[in-house]
Amino acid sequence: MEALPHFFISERVSSLLSRYQQFVQEHLKPLEQGAIYGSFKAHLPALVELRQKAKSEGLFAPHLAVEEGGLGLSLLEFASISEVLGQSPLGHYVFNCQAPDIGNMELMHRFASEDLKAQYLHPLQKGEIRSCFAMTEPEHAGSNPIHLSTQAVLDGDEYVINGHKWFTSSADGAYFTIVMAVTDPDNLNPYQRASMILVPLDNPGYRLIRNIPIMGDVGEDYLSHGEVEFKDCRVPKTNLIGEAGSGFALAQERLGPGRIHHCMRWIGICERVLELTCKRAIARELNPHHVLADQQSIQHGIAESAAEIKASRLMVLQTAYLIEKYGAKAAKEDISTIKFYVSNVLMRVIDKAIQVHGALGITDDTLLSFWYRHERGAKIYDGPDEVHKTVLAKRIIQSYGAR
Ligand SMILES: Cc1cc2nc3c(=O)[nH]c(=O)nc-3n(C[C@H](O)[C@H](O)[C@H](O)COP(=O)(O)OP(=O)(O)OC[C@H]3O[C@@H](n4cnc5c(N)ncnc54)[C@H](O)[C@@H]3O)c2cc1C
Repeated sequence: MEALPHFFISERVSSLLSRYQQFVQEHLKPLEQGAIYGSFKAHLPALVELRQKAKSEGLFAPHLAVEEGGLGLSLLEFASISEVLGQSPLGHYVFNCQAPDIGNMELMHRFASEDLKAQYLHPLQKGEIRSCFAMTEPEHAGSNPIHLSTQAVLDGDEYVINGHKWFTSSADGAYFTIVMAVTDPDNLNPYQRASMILVPLDNPGYRLIRNIPIMGDVGEDYLSHGEVEFKDCRVPKTNLIGEAGSGFALAQERLGPGRIHHCMRWIGICERVLELTCKRAIARELNPHHVLADQQSIQHGIAESAAEIKASRLMVLQTAYLIEKYGAKAAKEDISTIKFYVSNVLMRVIDKAIQVHGALGITDDTLLSFWYRHERGAKIYDGPDEVHKTVLAKRIIQSYGAR
């Protein structure tokens, strides 16, 4: 294991961080309750205005290169900004670096044709449209990404796509999706059977069946998870991203930096949740002489959360550094480690916060219930925790001489 590098934050990033912090505090927090527990759609005009403000302040799309309208940050630098934005459920959205769009932007930037970039990527980068990513199918274990039924068959100059997907996050209101479909079912290598194909969602062969309720919350627009159908859905064969048969390899490429983004967002959530915990513990009087924060068990919980957050941050930043220096493939085990470690820290920090808040913790009067409901998925998406633990354990066992 390489020695931990110094995570020196340059003056530029440090001043950017305080500007993002101020933006979140002044403009996003006041909107949260309404946009998250009320109607997200009804808040779109206000959110669009905030995107304009972010643009005029030179803070929009921090992950992009300068020539693409971004700030030209390294993965490591963007990670720290992602942590600040994660403190609000609206943060990444307002700055146009939200999943799944950020993953699609990274993927298309590297692998899409110039035509697809002009037609779809550039408006996406400017925040004029949204996108989604359709890989998981209800009929198959999503944890095995080569087990897919959706097929794309070439017919002249077009692919004809048939299939059923779900948990296509943010499909509602999206302009296009990138769909993972089998294009070469007989390939002896199962990892070379599928391809990624771009489908504009006004296509008559595409249908959003429903937004899937998540523990009672059906969601809408960006804050939703769609079940979708492709029925004789025809797109030009030039909508292929990368090479035919490269779908699995591209999915891997998409997920490396993606896990840094998710983990730093989760750490941002943890920080906000810890802040809520501390404020509640200080304010809640048990009797005229004592508040909750006086109790040792509460103090220990706060200390445990703070330590876990700090450990998580160091692990994720080190992994970002390794990805930048050696590439996602070389950092495979580190990427797996942060995925299952930080998702569990997130669960523990939120759960402790709910306990400290008592009955208030399970109401929708704070953001805790939103995160408890929606972030439970963190242990499932981007590869369930078990799969990542296996990746890490195999490498460790091999280092002791196992075949
Ligand atoms: C909030 C959320 C957003 C998502 N967004 C998207 C999206 O935008 N696009 C998209 O295509 N998909 C998306 N998904 C789907 C996600 O990728 C899948 O849920 C994930 O891959 C797991 O697949 P599955 O749900 O079919 O679970 P299964 O594969 O059926 O696994 C069920 C459980 O079995 C266990 N398990 C699985 N494999 C192993 C193993 N090898 N060893 C031991 N235990 C194992 C795990 O506990 C796992 O949770 C999203 C999911 C969630 C929850």
